[in-house]
Amino acid sequence: MPELPEVEITRQKLAPLLCGRTIARIETTADSYFFLTPPAQLKRALSGRRVEALNRRGKYLLAELDDGARLLLHLGMTGQLFADGVSSVRLLTGTGKGSLAPDAQAKGFTPDAHTHLRLHFDDGGPAVYFRDARKFGKVELLAAGARCARLERLGPDALETRGAELHAAAKKRKAPIKSVLLDQAVLAGVGNIYADEALFRAGIRPRTAARRLSQLQCERLVEALQAVMLRSIETGGSSISDYVQPDGQDGGYQDERRVYAREGLPCLQCETPIRRIVIGQRSSCYCPHCQR
Ligand SMILES: [Zn+2]
Repeated sequence: MPELPEVEITRQKLAPLLCGRTIARIETTADSYFFLTPPAQLKRALSGRRVEALNRRGKYLLAELDDGARLLLHLGMTGQLFADGVSSVRLLTGTGKGSLAPDAQAKGFTPDAHTHLRLHFDDGGPAVYFRDARKFGKVELLAAGARCARLERLGPDALETRGAELHAAAKKRKAPIKSVLLDQAVLAGVGNIYADEALFRAGIRPRTAARRLSQLQCERLVEALQAVMLRSIETGGSSISDYVQPDGQDGGYQDERRVYAREGLPCLQCETPIRRIVIGQRSSCYCPHCQR
């Protein structure tokens, strides 16, 4: 699932493909829960609009339009935003991934039934696609000045918060720190991968009650979280299942993770086997020796 680093890389690489361009027309798949704004309304509202900027809040992207409206995009679990002409095996669904001949894979992507939103521009340049095989992604058009409950619910962006802020939120919570880190109302942008990695770096067990953490521990945790996220942005994010960059490239952070999805493998610091537990229906991996 794309987390803050993957969404930020998407923003950085997609911005030049959107900003300053005028949308000529859009194509969509049939109306579904993917569209928080019905396709017919999107078609009317987006045609002729120029994209002024592409911003990010937590895991949300916001394309700012020249009439003051904003297009909210969320990648969900398997969302992919990219330009026409790119190719990646991650753009093939299910069985196609393994069976397609290399020359067919190299040919580039052709919009398929999962390509829910296709933006075509008046300059005749590459279209931009939003594809999502599992449809947990979201598209919503926010009229100029309209409030958005989804955005208002979010806590501070994980890259901009500080330890004291996390400490203030954590001390009211009995829940395990892992669950509190995943709560987008506490910190926006954190998901399973970077929560596990940050807890490892900070030496904190995922099940520790949030309210038992000292201010110093919260400071270390936020420092660790920002360090792993910035490093992930630097390496192109984690391409573990479907995540692909807007230019079709894979990220490299999956090769640097120390605990996430490493159950049973030796800790890279002390060789103790990494343990996996389930907290709030999400798996958590940690080192029982390095994390106390
Ligand atoms: Zn260890």
